Amino acid sequence: MVLTPPETAAARLRAASPVIDALGDAWIVGGAVRDAMLGLPAGKDLDVVDPVDGVARARELHRLLGGVLTVHDRFGTATVTVDGWSVDVATARAERYPRPGALPEVSVPAPLTEDLVRRDFTVNAIALRPDGEVLAFPGALDDLLTRRLTVLHPSSFRDDPTRLYRLARYEARLGFGVDHETEGLAREAFAAGAPATAGAARIGNEVLLLLAEEPEVAIRGLELLRSLGADGLEVDRELLRRAGALLPDGLPHGPLLLAAVCGGVPDGWHVENPGPVLDAARDPAGLAAEMRAAVKPSDLHRVLRGRTAEAAALAGAHGAEPQARSWFDDIRHVKLEIRGEDLVAAGIPPGPEIGAKLEEALRKRLDEGISGRDAELAAALAHVPR
Ligand code: ATP
Repeated sequence: MVLTPPETAAARLRAASPVIDALGDAWIVGGAVRDAMLGLPAGKDLDVVDPVDGVARARELHRLLGGVLTVHDRFGTATVTVDGWSVDVATARAERYPRPGALPEVSVPAPLTEDLVRRDFTVNAIALRPDGEVLAFPGALDDLLTRRLTVLHPSSFRDDPTRLYRLARYEARLGFGVDHETEGLAREAFAAGAPATAGAARIGNEVLLLLAEEPEVAIRGLELLRSLGADGLEVDRELLRRAGALLPDGLPHGPLLLAAVCGGVPDGWHVENPGPVLDAARDPAGLAAEMRAAVKPSDLHRVLRGRTAEAAALAGAHGAEPQARSWFDDIRHVKLEIRGEDLVAAGIPPGPEIGAKLEEALRKRLDEGISGRDAELAAALAHVPR
């Protein structure tokens, strides 16, 4: 395999994004360069490093291109979003870790070579200028060519253990190998309990990024993490696959995977919408048993009432696959055409009787296949709640 020459990579990025021509002598770094040189399609994120003043560069981009400018004063960085592109701009910086796992101390501006040294893997330590000039950490282009993930120095994982999880994400997504020494360092870092020094929230964010990848990629990355010694991840490939296959199209797999792999939301992790994770993690084997015990469609409807798709899918994978399928395909979205008001209009006094009658109409709809407003109304009115 060959790498796309830097001039061609720059030209492709220029063709893909209006931002590139406005960058002047700033450098594109990280994933966009890596992917362009691999010949992969451009994403919509750019990381840019300005040799002198990242915020001033971002202001200039904003002046030239419009869009929205957000300055992160605390970090001396800025983001410009324009035409669907998100451009993070920073001043070239050097970083020093005061202690393992802590956030780094930053000095700016620093030579671009220092900015590359602070990065996670050599393949992400390549800078490309719009004119095609390239500056790479020693060995980076060779690693990119041979598809290999290599840390930049032996204390990399100790300094920042989130890189252990980034390693898994890149290995799985890009299908790269892991450099032999890097693999040894990752094992040592896990064995020494390095993740604990970074704090749960930061580790959690990286795991969530992995879980947000395509399901097969996420599973592969999780397996790598397990094999390197990561704690707290239960990875049963077959179970995860079965559960994922049950989940309706269009739903993200992340919450389901998190429930299955971590048994819920680990302490300190920030999950924006924890509901589906917590619901799916609530005794999936027990729910599967209840689903199997359901004799009629209305039983299954009752068992899964108020439960999320994630819960049904995970329970399905725990031995209730036909029941989960039937719920997703035939039961989940069944709704009565009549409502409580219809029964009140037919002379039933408001109160618990209404609910019982609607329940009976739904039962007949699910178990006996009645359909249409009139049939539902007749079923509800014929029912005498006990
Ligand atoms: P992706 O394709 O997943 O977006 P990316 O390389 O663009 O990959 P980002 O998380 O956007 O990933 O990070 C941009 C760049 O910043 C990385 O390529 C890497 O050089 C650097 N970086 C990010 N996180 C770290 C870290 N924890 N340690 C060192 N460098 C990092």
